[in-house]
Amino acid sequence: MGLFGGHKCSFCGADRGFLGNTTLKDGNLCDDCRKQLSPLFRVNDQTTVAEVTKHLSYRKQNQARLEQFAIAEQIALEEDSIYLDKQGKQLFIAKTSREKSANPDIIPFAGIQDVSSRFEKEKTPIQWKNQAGEAITCDPPMYHTTYNVSLVITLENENVSGQQTLRLATDLDSSDCMEAVNVRARLDEIAGKLNSLKNA
Ligand SMILES: [Zn+2]
Repeated sequence: MGLFGGHKCSFCGADRGFLGNTTLKDGNLCDDCRKQLSPLFRVNDQTTVAEVTKHLSYRKQNQARLEQFAIAEQIALEEDSIYLDKQGKQLFIAKTSREKSANPDIIPFAGIQDVSSRFEKEKTPIQWKNQAGEAITCDPPMYHTTYNVSLVITLENENVSGQQTLRLATDLDSSDCMEAVNVRARLDEIAGKLNSLKNA
């Protein structure tokens, strides 16, 4: 695996070249195989082939278990939803319930480690048009402030753990206090529900 060596994938044998390859401690991982890993699984040049092999085997089991997952409730956020199986006391997060190809990790309710919120402030320079119809940026600069609000959940099962950030509101206008109050109420409602599942 020297500088001029190939990048033969240690898992499927394909050679995607330098750009489609992740170098592991003792092998290579091609981009196609990398797509099969959980977003909660971190890979770097210290990850071993054995660790990825074990993880890929877990991912196959997870895929099979998704077929049995009985969705009892959907908590819809802006892009993602949290799907709850109350009987099985487990959840997964995905863009649609049928997004089985993405193989979302099944997390037991007891694996909800933490639920918090994130408010990101975005400043956009204010522009207006002059008499000639040209867009003028205010000088001195003045800004229009908006907020992006996300739910941050720390999840863990026996194979993976990490944070997932789920967008709840985008471009919330700083002048719209009522909307901010509504978003806060929704955040609190979801966080309360997840915490009660965890402690049930
Ligand atoms: Zn591969």
